[in-house]
Amino acid sequence: MSYVSLKGLRKSYGSLEILKGLDLEIPHHQFTVLLGPSGCGKSTTLRLLAGLEPVSGGKICIDGRDVTRFEPRERDISMVFQNYALYPSMTVEQNMGFGLKARKLPPAEIRQRVHAAADLLGITPLLARRPRELSGGQQQRVAIGRAIVREPKVFLFDEPLSNLDAKLRVEMRAEILQLHRRLKATTIYVTHDQEEAMTMADRIVIMNAGEIEQEGTPEDIFFRPQTRMVAGFIGSPGMNFLPARIEAAGRVSTPVGFFGFVGGGAPGQKVEVGIRPDDLLLARDPATAPDGDTFRGEISLIELLGPRAILHLHVNDTRLLAVVAHDELSGLSVGKSAAFYARPGALHVFERDTGIRL
Ligand code: ADP
Ligand code: MG
Repeated sequence: MSYVSLKGLRKSYGSLEILKGLDLEIPHHQFTVLLGPSGCGKSTTLRLLAGLEPVSGGKICIDGRDVTRFEPRERDISMVFQNYALYPSMTVEQNMGFGLKARKLPPAEIRQRVHAAADLLGITPLLARRPRELSGGQQQRVAIGRAIVREPKVFLFDEPLSNLDAKLRVEMRAEILQLHRRLKATTIYVTHDQEEAMTMADRIVIMNAGEIEQEGTPEDIFFRPQTRMVAGFIGSPGMNFLPARIEAAGRVSTPVGFFGFVGGGAPGQKVEVGIRPDDLLLARDPATAPDGDTFRGEISLIELLGPRAILHLHVNDTRLLAVVAHDELSGLSVGKSAAFYARPGALHVFERDTGIRL
């Protein structure tokens, strides 16, 4: 059963329509990630959920109650922001307890809850410090602690790690997930970082221009993107796209040659095919490639990524990326060409006009 439910949620600023009628059901205890390009409406969605701004249309329900017109404090939601939003003049303990004090909880209970949360987050030694005496990661823990002490029904996170350096981001990612496993609070986490989404989410919701493009598990989103937008947005390096034409059932022609695929479509239909760089395989011995569907590409650049390398290929006027393991690089060099084929079953085929998966 869904715990947070958005029905036809709309938001406009003047004549500018930002959210175009979102329908979203978020199950209890799950970690749901809203992922999408900058400006697609993720923060707006969270602000409406938290009650920081009025909706222009539609309905928000939490735990079966319509909270669309409720004040923020009546909604039982805590939000953690990207910029931490700590009070500079207060100690960590005062920052964490502030919301509880405003709700007039007894001081002994505030103290108990703040100390329990500090213990959980490993920040007990910092309780007497002020925000300027803390590192970015410590400030973010305090901001999370302040959200936890309120024991909300729903946690909202708006890009909480984007001000941290790469190493700390990976550590905090794991900490937030461990915290979620312990508290099991329904969480809605916003990010534009696909790696964060893929590693953290039970369920990913991809947003684009104020609408939902696709929802599903990280595997669904990665292996079965339902639109060209999702296919191009997820995966690094990004998917290769080629204009193509269906020749026969399960077979397309492209500017670099023929490929097999799993799925329908009518002969003659114009489509666009996507193939991930990791799914272009070296055909050392062309006879081993399925159906002999290989193509030759000239290598224009080799980018070493440690255990893997990105090959930039030219096939006539078409440019493609392929990823190979480091130990496959022997014999390859810039200016030389090599034969490749597509991993069987790895082709993604989209209608050319709509961008929808066939
Ligand atoms: P995201 O968090 O996905 O990057 P936002 O929800 O912050 O995107 O913003 C979505 C769009 O709404 C952006 O184009 C932004 O410029 C616009 N927007 C956000 N807040 C306002 C506002 N108060 N007035 C006008 N436009 C706004
Ligand atoms: Mg935002």
